[in-house]
Amino acid sequence: MDDCIFCKIARHEIPAQVVYEDDDLLAFRDLKPAAPVHVLIIPKKHISMLTHMTEEDGALIGKVMLTAKNLAASLDVADSGFRVVVNQGAQAGQSVFHIHFHLLGGRAMSWPPG
Ligand code: 5GP
Ligand code: ZN
Repeated sequence: MDDCIFCKIARHEIPAQVVYEDDDLLAFRDLKPAAPVHVLIIPKKHISMLTHMTEEDGALIGKVMLTAKNLAASLDVADSGFRVVVNQGAQAGQSVFHIHFHLLGGRAMSWPPG
């Protein structure tokens, strides 16, 4: 996707503070962190939102969750607790239409989210 900002980050055309990368995924610090640890995990494949995920993306998105678990440990929030959040669509506050998983930790969080 030529004009997708997260595709550009995945291709390293826009700088980001990358904390993890492999052939399928990239994880980088959120530009406006909402918690002491706020990382976005994306598949390099352009999937615009969760509802556009297909059966064939199952292993890829499963890998995102395993990476979230591993990053939580390496960023030292696994024991204290963390959230993995997908904002899907306008009412949920999705602002970038390349699927991304927020990994948030390092502070107490309330429920339900605002
Ligand atoms: P959403 O609201 O779509 O769930 O989350 C999008 C997130 O992407 C926001 O938390 C926002 O701060 C972050 N973001 C938007 N543009 C950029 C960017 O160019 N670089 C980085 N690192 N984060 C971005
Ligand atoms: Zn994209």
